[in-house]
Amino acid sequence: MLTDEMKPAKWWEPTDNNKILCTLCPRYCKIGDGQPGFCYIRQNHGGQLYTIGYGRPTGFAIDPVEKKPLNHFLPGTNILSFGTAGCNLGCKFCQNWSISKAKLDDRNSIEASPESVVELAKSYRTPSIAFTYNDPTIFGEYVIDISKIAREEKIKSVMVTAGYIDKEARKDVYKFIDAANVDLKGFTDRFYHKLTFSHLNDILDTLVWLKNETDIWFEITTLLIPDENDSEDEIKRECNWILENLGNKVPLHFTAFHPDFRMQDKERTPEKTLTRSRNIALDAGIKFCYVGNIHNRVGQTTYCPNCSETLIKRDWHSVISNKMQNDRCKNCGTKIEGIFN
Ligand code: SF4
Repeated sequence: MLTDEMKPAKWWEPTDNNKILCTLCPRYCKIGDGQPGFCYIRQNHGGQLYTIGYGRPTGFAIDPVEKKPLNHFLPGTNILSFGTAGCNLGCKFCQNWSISKAKLDDRNSIEASPESVVELAKSYRTPSIAFTYNDPTIFGEYVIDISKIAREEKIKSVMVTAGYIDKEARKDVYKFIDAANVDLKGFTDRFYHKLTFSHLNDILDTLVWLKNETDIWFEITTLLIPDENDSEDEIKRECNWILENLGNKVPLHFTAFHPDFRMQDKERTPEKTLTRSRNIALDAGIKFCYVGNIHNRVGQTTYCPNCSETLIKRDWHSVISNKMQNDRCKNCGTKIEGIFN
């Protein structure tokens, strides 16, 4: 049912029989009148596409930026974080499924104008805002309006995303974005198809676009799931692709899976899998590789790639000490890639 709260959506075109083709993500849903797309929050009412996620977060949190995870972006600061209902992927291992699989009415979403979101960040003195928890691609109109106002107020904006977005739409959605963490969920199309209902090549395309055509700082996260995407061969191929296409300075995070949603039968990721994967990445030539969702100080510390000086010590999501001098190693002066102030 069409209500006053629904906002006309961008990125669509009419097709046959009063249907709509949504062109926001590579799923390209054909949506019949009165129906939602796969992500649920984009709906066809009378031949017009509406977004019902606009201005309707499912709640706010103040998180450490390391939780996104971002280790080379304003380390040690807090970030105002929120998502909406719905998601454009169908990950069977979703670690946030109570939000991403929710309908708006059963998540008690609240109303928040773009201006009020930025005001909230100012009132909590967070230097940045994260669009996170579900995939912010699906509420792209809201992302644009918030990030535009945030930039005017000198507050940075962060996408925490699977990177499953159409080539044209992403130019709009990322216009005022400063940083992103992109999930590279695995490195086989079998994994993407079977466990996420999406395709690896679309994500790789977004990563290459971020690198070659934007100034957006980005880091990559791979959630390692036992026997699904954690083989030595797959990790090596992922690292080699990153090196060839993105260079050796994009931080890579290997994080631990916990049994959730439709994957309750899997064990947690053992720590040795995370450290083995990190070693593979470092041996291949990636300069910054971290492990997450476990306590592992070595795997969570930033070292200077030139002189090996310990720069930022972390434990889980906490910064224990920071010996950076602005964006440089205090010991040898090497520039460390990222946004540090
Ligand atoms: S954004 Fe939603 S409605 Fe649009 S194509 Fe993707 S899943 Fe379908």
